Amino acid sequence: MNSSYQQLIQNLEYLKLKQMICHLNETIDFSTKNQLSFVDTLVKLTNYEIDMRERNMINSMVKVGAFPHLKELKDFDFDFQPSINKQQILDFTTLRFIEENENIVFLGPSGVGKTHLATAIGIAAAKKRTSTYFIKCHELILQLKKAKMENRLDNRLKHYGKYKLLIIDEIGYLPIDREDAKLFFQLIDLRYEKKSTIFTTNANFKDWGEVFQDSKLANAILDRILHHAAVINIVGDSYRIKNHLEREKENE
Ligand code: ADP
Ligand code: MG
Repeated sequence: MNSSYQQLIQNLEYLKLKQMICHLNETIDFSTKNQLSFVDTLVKLTNYEIDMRERNMINSMVKVGAFPHLKELKDFDFDFQPSINKQQILDFTTLRFIEENENIVFLGPSGVGKTHLATAIGIAAAKKRTSTYFIKCHELILQLKKAKMENRLDNRLKHYGKYKLLIIDEIGYLPIDREDAKLFFQLIDLRYEKKSTIFTTNANFKDWGEVFQDSKLANAILDRILHHAAVINIVGDSYRIKNHLEREKENE
């Protein structure tokens, strides 16, 4: 005949509560030793299951986000980039800006940490179960173009429109022709005042007319992006050549 302990294991298996099975023995021991109440014991045991599910959920949200790497704020050396207000960046990770449907623009030359910071904020959002997606501007435009050719542009726009946070990386590295700029405008217009978007760019706003090869369209895009936006202008050295700079200093 089965003992009630075996019956309990069977029940937990049937209910697919793997973590509770894993931690059953130690929890029984702990509970006996510390004379835990039945309720406290159950809370302790169910917490193991909940913790694992939370972790799985976070991992899948982060995976869905398609981040280029898993760099977070703790990996960012703020001392190296004194033009950045650390408190302002920390405030972004509270996701207040998403509640307000505000945008963030990281502006600055190559290597100063624009993609790193945008990704770190994106990961913070994904960890709090905010639907987040990272895409390079060039790839985004290719996808919209392809959708248009296949007569499914509306669907594609809706797809990118639905993320609570969209990160569009590297505006300005490659020129965008007028027809493509229109597709980009449609997405910006769709998200305007409804969803938050983080942009990274190496191009000053006055040069966006050249980037989009149409100054009117560029203005319309900028107007919507900047209406409710925090612009983080990063002035400093590239972190990629940090070691070279340090060596130069040593040799001085
Ligand atoms: P950008 O997008 O501005 O060109 P990245 O964010 O890609 O620059 O940064 C280039 C590399 O340097 C990345 O590997 C990034 O993690 C790292 N990096 C940049 N700035 C810092 C910093 N202040 N502290 C730590 N790592 C940094
Ligand atoms: Mg970058």
